[in-house]
Amino acid sequence: MSDAIDTAADAHTPVEAVNARDLFSKFDPLIAERQALLDTGVRDPFSIVMEQVMSPTRAIIKGKETILLGTYNYMGMTFDPDVIRAGKDALDNFGSGTTGSRVLNGTYQGHRECEDALRDFYGMSGAMVFSTGYQANLGVISTLAGKGDYVVIDADSHASIYDGCFLGDAEIVRFRHNSVEDLDKRLGRLPADAQKLVVLEGVYSMLGDIAPLPDMVAAIRKHANCMILVDEAHGMGFFGEHGRGVFEEQGVSDDVDFVIGTFSKSVGTVGGFCVSNHPKFEILRLVCRPYIFTASLPPSVVATAATSIRKLMHAGNKRAHLWENSRILHGGLRDMGYKLGTETPQSAIIAVILHDQAQAVAAWQALLEAGVYVNLARPPATPAGMFLLRCSLCAEHSREEVDVILKAFQAAGRISGVLTS
Ligand code: PMP
Repeated sequence: MSDAIDTAADAHTPVEAVNARDLFSKFDPLIAERQALLDTGVRDPFSIVMEQVMSPTRAIIKGKETILLGTYNYMGMTFDPDVIRAGKDALDNFGSGTTGSRVLNGTYQGHRECEDALRDFYGMSGAMVFSTGYQANLGVISTLAGKGDYVVIDADSHASIYDGCFLGDAEIVRFRHNSVEDLDKRLGRLPADAQKLVVLEGVYSMLGDIAPLPDMVAAIRKHANCMILVDEAHGMGFFGEHGRGVFEEQGVSDDVDFVIGTFSKSVGTVGGFCVSNHPKFEILRLVCRPYIFTASLPPSVVATAATSIRKLMHAGNKRAHLWENSRILHGGLRDMGYKLGTETPQSAIIAVILHDQAQAVAAWQALLEAGVYVNLARPPATPAGMFLLRCSLCAEHSREEVDVILKAFQAAGRISGVLTS
């Protein structure tokens, strides 16, 4: 019963109130679709509770020890002893929260140290810490690209990039996902003297594919007045020699004007940032509304982030192990006959593509019952209306865990009818 939706099912809600038309009426089709799915007896994939978390790769879900294959904890930093100690010390010494904006009382020593860690990590002169990565995209895109300017984005961009465009006054131009040709064509149609911000992502988080950044940079450089922003939310930590992201691995560091990132993935806590070498970068602190009009991160969070970022600079072994995991899981799933988001393992995300919602939920539930949690991703978050079982690997997954995961996929494929042989 706890999985059922709390509308008609709630005995205290009068039937007239459920049927009344109001601002919620537009959600009726979604409510009905969700209820129909739950009526088939499946667990609700969107209300999982981690009752206990033992490590970056293990948690208790509904009383059962489960391998986590659907977190963004790529580098497994959430239980790092140095990171935890830094957080506890900050709680003791600076309290539980800042209760203020970065531009008033909300910049503590720890925020400065976190920005110093980012400058060192990226080898860039400017770093700004936001309260989330979502807000970093919202703030930087909407503030940089104003009236009369253009924001040029990949059609599969993350919601925070779209929302950053909607918050600002610039004109939005979309190009086909990862298409260098379409990017070039669309830039060619814009006025040469207009200012343009081209927003790319290193890793696209739904299918786990990466951007062909050198070709894109070459196409962009054919056009005047373009600045380049790369969101490395899913690339930070394990791409490139220093773990900076796909832009580092692909050798385009000197061409990128802004890197956006998050602490909620490889860094293992919460928060967002932008780094840049632009000489006027600091002025953003005075004009960027999602930076100014919200409370800053708690001292314990910036302390854990700074410690984690500094440790990620020397995480070559972890990076190598994560790539090994990605290769084994990708190869194993492909050999079983699953359709995957990429032909080859391109990142720590491996997406299994399924026919429809019913099949996806059946396979997702069978995996959970076999002790493996993955993300169920569905439209509108996914491209082309796809239903995905999205696996994201962690550097702390052992070889034995990857083997257990593969066995669970074999069983779940048969139970759900996804695999026929
Ligand atoms: N950019 C991308 C590409 C993301 O996938 C996400 C989060 N999934 C964000 C930005 C926002 O990060 P955060 O969780 O810090 O808000």
